[in-house]
Amino acid sequence: MIVSEPVHFSGLRGMLKREESLARHVTWRCGGRADLAYAPADRDDLAAFVRCLPATQPLTVIGLGSNLLVRDGGLRGAVVLMHNPGGALAVADGLLYADAGVASPKVARFAATHGCAEAEFLAGIPGTIGGALAMNAGCYGGEIWRYVARVEVLLRDGGFAVRTPSDYSIGYRSVRRAGGAALDGIFTAAWLRFPQGDSSAARARIKELLARRVATQPLNLPNAGSVFRNPPGDHAAHLIERCGLKGHAIGGARVSEKHANFIVNPEGTARAADIEALIEYVRRVVAEKTGVTLEPEVQIIGEAEK
Ligand SMILES: Cc1cc2nc3c(=O)[nH]c(=O)nc-3n(C[C@H](O)[C@H](O)[C@H](O)COP(=O)(O)OP(=O)(O)OC[C@H]3O[C@@H](n4cnc5c(N)ncnc54)[C@H](O)[C@@H]3O)c2cc1C
Repeated sequence: MIVSEPVHFSGLRGMLKREESLARHVTWRCGGRADLAYAPADRDDLAAFVRCLPATQPLTVIGLGSNLLVRDGGLRGAVVLMHNPGGALAVADGLLYADAGVASPKVARFAATHGCAEAEFLAGIPGTIGGALAMNAGCYGGEIWRYVARVEVLLRDGGFAVRTPSDYSIGYRSVRRAGGAALDGIFTAAWLRFPQGDSSAARARIKELLARRVATQPLNLPNAGSVFRNPPGDHAAHLIERCGLKGHAIGGARVSEKHANFIVNPEGTARAADIEALIEYVRRVVAEKTGVTLEPEVQIIGEAEK
């Protein structure tokens, strides 16, 4: 049961909004409202906010919402909006430090400028570093946790912990606590270790990776990247295309003609329910025709509209 207690906030420096439309905060540009949304000024402000919340209050974290479908009935409790365009980046003692709210492409460019190699893959992942840590985001052979030296986490009681990769169980687009429990807390910072490299080579590789994405992905339309994980030994996009589903639409949502594992919201009119119904439809048809059950990579959260 969700307990709705009056919450008293004082001394906060960030932006607190009630009934905030989450369509503004996710890349699919649809979905319901948050009862309460908070964009913290910094990590200490975030901790102060979390300490104000009753322990029973649901708390959801959104980075850039590039892997999220929020149902049309929205989210109860509090939502923390982590994206922070002005978040800190630094290189010291051979480690790249990033506030969790910094966008991953910005980290890729910063790493290239500071002579770090192998961070280029982050340039094409349009989320925050915190979202990348939660998802073990990766592409073109790179995955973020391969480079993590340590992370800082804000726990539900408002205290911070510093953790290392051995505290986590890390898999393909999956991160859990060591031992298998779901993630606890909010990532607030990461220290990443990249090999030294050549800045101009890294910048050239970023350019090449982005050009490849523009050529193969529907980046001009609202989407949330790959909808399904790739099944072992195959590609979800190939299976969906083989089933003739490219261009299939439900309401305002459509399977992209350019990349079959993307669902787009071309007119901006899709409801989250359209996208969820299309995800289910694609799953069912692919299972019937190929015997492979696709697992969603995108996370579906919130309540259906009543
Ligand atoms: C065009 C496009 C291309 C994409 N390509 C790729 C790709 O190549 N590889 C890939 O892996 N992904 C890809 N994605 C998916 C997505 O960008 C990544 O999963 C990204 O890392 C999500 O970051 P985010 O900040 O948007 O997280 P959100 O979508 O906001 O959240 C995703 C999950 O992370 C949690 N979370 C977010 N921030 C934090 C935090 N600070 N602490 C704890 N939990 C947190 C959320 O609660 C949620 O469970 C793509 C998406 C798009 C739109």
